[in-house]
Amino acid sequence: MTKLIVATGNPGKLPEMQDYLTDARWELQLKPEELEIEETGETFSENACLKASGVAKATGEWAIADDSGLEVNALDGAPGIYSARYGRTDTERIERLLMELGNELHRDAQFVCVVAIARPDGSIAAQAQGICPGTILHAPRGLGGFGYDPIFYVPEKRLTFAEMAPEVKRSLSHRGKAFAELLPQLEKMAES
Ligand code: IMP
Repeated sequence: MTKLIVATGNPGKLPEMQDYLTDARWELQLKPEELEIEETGETFSENACLKASGVAKATGEWAIADDSGLEVNALDGAPGIYSARYGRTDTERIERLLMELGNELHRDAQFVCVVAIARPDGSIAAQAQGICPGTILHAPRGLGGFGYDPIFYVPEKRLTFAEMAPEVKRSLSHRGKAFAELLPQLEKMAES
């Protein structure tokens, strides 16, 4: 058991996942383009499991999927699972979030990521969650990263995600933490 189908339409996620799984004995392969799984779940976990399970069943292979987003406390956890659908572009999504927060003083937020692995029959074999706490700035800072990175400030580093070197972001990000938790489970599976 070495092949894992990556249940995402985003080809950029393949090398990123491969990076997180460098020591694991898995060969990652992108899902067929025409195979679309709708994210109809109400939590990150439900959506990650839906995607992994759907792709595993359709391909008859093991599959991996992640679902992630930004939860802002003063907005009751929005945009949350709707982070990708909060606007048409990264700029629009950031502008909308800043407008909705306005001058709110309580700007705590967290990025959340859930990664799920499904067996060829669609059952879930492993699942892990990572959380990265931070605060939302009043204006974007930094040029790196993607998505909400320029407004997500990590007090511990005194930098936004967009100002961090990629390896620093990877070491403390929600995605990095989720994969770190998943890795031992994956290694056990590869041995069995
Ligand atoms: P998905 O996990 O591919 O469904 O995407 C979730 C959405 O959450 C992305 O489109 C981004 O808008 C946002 N997001 C998730 N992780 C990050 C991150 O590390 N930085 C910035 N935005 C993120």
